[in-house]
Amino acid sequence: MPKNAEIIAIGSELLTAQRVDTNSLTVTEHLNLLGVEVVRKQVIGDDHERLTEAIRCAVGRSDIVILIGGLGPTEDDVTREAAAAALGRKLVLSLEQESVLISRFRQINRPMAKNNIRQAYLIEEAEAMPNPFGTAPGQFLSTDRGALVLLPGPPRELKPMVENELVPRLRPVLPPYVIRVRTFRITGIGESDLDTLIAPVYTKFANPVTTILSSPGDLLVHLRAQANSIAEADALLREAGNPIAELLGDRIYSEDPDEGLEMVVGRLLRKQRATVATAESCTGGLLAGRLTDHGGSSDFFIAGYVTYTNKQKTEILGVPRDLIEKHSAVSEPVAVAMAEGARQRANSTYALSVTGYAGPDGGTDFNPVGTVYLAIAGPAGTRCVRTRFGVDRYRVRALATQSALDLLRKTLA
Ligand code: AMP
Ligand code: MG
Repeated sequence: MPKNAEIIAIGSELLTAQRVDTNSLTVTEHLNLLGVEVVRKQVIGDDHERLTEAIRCAVGRSDIVILIGGLGPTEDDVTREAAAAALGRKLVLSLEQESVLISRFRQINRPMAKNNIRQAYLIEEAEAMPNPFGTAPGQFLSTDRGALVLLPGPPRELKPMVENELVPRLRPVLPPYVIRVRTFRITGIGESDLDTLIAPVYTKFANPVTTILSSPGDLLVHLRAQANSIAEADALLREAGNPIAELLGDRIYSEDPDEGLEMVVGRLLRKQRATVATAESCTGGLLAGRLTDHGGSSDFFIAGYVTYTNKQKTEILGVPRDLIEKHSAVSEPVAVAMAEGARQRANSTYALSVTGYAGPDGGTDFNPVGTVYLAIAGPAGTRCVRTRFGVDRYRVRALATQSALDLLRKTLA
């Protein structure tokens, strides 16, 4: 049977708008890699009674209970005391931890305040986990069903302790069980269309579990398999994932969960030693922003022209004035002229242009709000697409930017 875990983040500041609990994400990531599912987490203020009660419930229902924070030397840090009370165990002074503390203070050449000695107390039978980056050691206590773990709050102390002390202690006591994940990053299809397309496949599988995450123009299909070995989990991911990949085809732009569309485009441009420039109207520079989001973008990005007014489209990009007068600025001929003008001026391999009505006002009968023309100029000529993205200004601009990037990706592929 796989083990489950529960996390309690401790600190009154974590219940305010000032501070978020980031440590539990670090812990969760490592537990998942060990095949342990985090089934519950909570945040509790620095309150002895509440904390004791929460710990008592947690150890009664979950295999591994992780307590984060509240290990400082001051009276408001109550995690040690609450954990001992919840388990009905004593806190005992560890002479070894006392000498670690003393030598640590000597090292930093500061006198040790009297209350620091609290940090040398361990729950009966718990093992200290050394903390090279702070004064509070972590604690590891084996329990009948798993373990109770105390970790320090400062992220720069917690992270190395999880990696170097906690994971090696947990691994040998866990059943061989793994959780493996496969992700598809997708663009060019809406969330409900995506679901209609792939639901017939993923609903056949209880393992892996499939989830769809969506943001404008960007979808993530997430398959999560649990098994007794990596090979078995990967086989499950192939069995469910391959037909999904086939259905989605080139709408999948990456299988790396951290690789955004602009990174894929950058990778392709770099590989082909090609460059790009942008000519933007309604996206106001968002496209150039995306293309330069990551280090090394000077390898392929030449220039971004933001030409909001008609006059600037003419002066900066050379779009003929009568072309704009005849067709309006939101039109295929103008999008094409913007892309070609940018490509010529920047002397780049490709140029992308965006012109449209982002809303909420504007638009015409033929080109209502949300209409965007995207063009790409390149060695093989210029192509233009007309799209409609609804009426929400934020969405229109985000979708236009994403679609322009995708136009370039497909051209490069
Ligand atoms: P403590 O161990 O409670 O004295 O916390 C020491 C520092 O770590 C404080 O600045 C806390 O705000 C911070 N901290 C505590 N718990 C967390 C957490 N779960 N996520 C991020 N920071 C935390
Ligand atoms: Mg605290």
